[in-house]
Amino acid sequence: PKSGFCASNSIFYSKRPPMPFPANPYLDLTTFVSAQPHRGTTAFIDACSGRRLSFQHFWDSVHTLSNSLSSVLGIRKGHVVLVLSPNSISFPIICLSVVSLGAIISTTNPVNTPREISSQVHDSNPVLAFTTPSLLPKLSDALAKQDIPIVLITSTEQQDHDHSAPKRTVPNRRPIHSLDELMRMGKMGKRRLVERVGLDDPASLLYSSGTTGKSKGVVSSHRGLITMVHNVLSRVDAESGGAQTFIATVPMFHIYGLSWFVAGLVASGSTVVVLPRFNIVEMLEAVGKYHVSYLPIVPPVIVAMINDADEIKRRYDLGSLKTVLSGGSPLSREVIEGFLGEYPTVKIIQGYGLTETTGLGASTNSVEESRRYGSTGRLAASLEAKLVDPQTGKSLSVNRTGELWLRGPSIMMGYLNNPEATSSTLTSDGWLKTGDLCYIDDDGFIFVVDRLKELIKYKAYQVAPAELEALLLTHPQIADAAVIPFPDKEVGQFPMAYVVCKQGSRLSDKTVKEFVAKQVAPYKRIRRVAFVEAIPKNPSGKILRKDLIKLATSKL
Ligand code: AMP
Repeated sequence: PKSGFCASNSIFYSKRPPMPFPANPYLDLTTFVSAQPHRGTTAFIDACSGRRLSFQHFWDSVHTLSNSLSSVLGIRKGHVVLVLSPNSISFPIICLSVVSLGAIISTTNPVNTPREISSQVHDSNPVLAFTTPSLLPKLSDALAKQDIPIVLITSTEQQDHDHSAPKRTVPNRRPIHSLDELMRMGKMGKRRLVERVGLDDPASLLYSSGTTGKSKGVVSSHRGLITMVHNVLSRVDAESGGAQTFIATVPMFHIYGLSWFVAGLVASGSTVVVLPRFNIVEMLEAVGKYHVSYLPIVPPVIVAMINDADEIKRRYDLGSLKTVLSGGSPLSREVIEGFLGEYPTVKIIQGYGLTETTGLGASTNSVEESRRYGSTGRLAASLEAKLVDPQTGKSLSVNRTGELWLRGPSIMMGYLNNPEATSSTLTSDGWLKTGDLCYIDDDGFIFVVDRLKELIKYKAYQVAPAELEALLLTHPQIADAAVIPFPDKEVGQFPMAYVVCKQGSRLSDKTVKEFVAKQVAPYKRIRRVAFVEAIPKNPSGKILRKDLIKLATSKL
């Protein structure tokens, strides 16, 4: 295989060993993960109850659940199954059972509102949904008249930190099962129907706004997810020669959590300590209690660890911690140096990726590499990169800035039910336009300089300006609106709205903020508002966001 920059076609090839796919195309993610040799004993620990799940028990549960999904609930190849749940040790069991049948796992953020979940459901058409007792009312609202069965994640570990009373009566007499009950039924011996599942069959459906517009369903294949497992395996092996103990605070519904905690680390024989949601105190306590060596997190958590470093070092035992992996949004020089200054024995590395690349696109391998400030590291295994001038469409050479295009087995198959968005993001010869403005230096390090796309990243969560703009326009007194990212040290960016009021109307910024807050998940809230006479647009009506960003930040 080629490696490094090839001047004749302006393609950058990954220098890492590629995923060696077998010639037989019939391989699914679950089989691949379960076939990896390792000497691990404990797969998951529920940090709330302390309950441990051995690899043996984990795989028994995956097979039992897939039996009952198939024989009791009739789940088949191509069906979409929704999971609305915080991180739990049942989450990976559910995902690997579903995809083993050739069905497609679709996830959503538990803090999403019923309106947001409902639009995802409408798009993806799931035949079954998993949720927890406390999220059941929200899911029932979102599903409204869709009569699909629900499975409640009511196994012991979930009940321990889910204190609200399980609601078993839901409108329109929707069938409700419990995970425990399905597990019991799966053990009763009926063999599951096995349909052949191949590398190029769809496996996951996660939502992302891509380069423009509203949230879209990103279809990733078994091949893509297996490539991610390969990446995680080589990373864990290179760093420690085998299994380690990790903490899962990054959400499993996001591709970062899905690729690491649901698939990659299970294959490596590592132990994953699961926290239902991010809480810095619980995370730091768990590091000491379970001798955690590896923390995959996002930049705002690192910022919090720097800000409270004295207190943290005094109160918590972080002696086992060897590596912090940062991903999901940019890591500045200030944060890298701040972290290394406070925690000099901990290695900090970072990864760059997109939902559309099924996770990792590039990563640094060492502190020295992380100290190439602004760089997100070298291309992940099996990927090719191109830098394309956004004006001329021409491919660029080393050290020249353009839009990063990526190609390889981990690139999404396309956006669900959206041929226009797919064809404007994926070229006919397989390149994904990332919407990130980058350059690649002589040594193959990728530097993300800016974002061409509309995306706002609040604490590494995606916020689509188009979605908030559409919502603002439903206000009877708003004539026009534009939403832009506003930079912030703690959270990375937050949404700011420019609003044009209808003639004769006067709105306060509080009213605008509240109008949006009532209808969206907390991380999408508008945190700053400015009123203008008109929204600047180009002749074809496209919002000139860069002009608004300049205007908003000029006084900083
Ligand atoms: P998502 O699909 O939610 O993973 O968001 C993908 C986008 O997040 C990328 O296209 C980048 O704009 C941004 N991103 C992710 N990781 C990094 C990183 N390490 N540095 C800079 N931007 C990043």
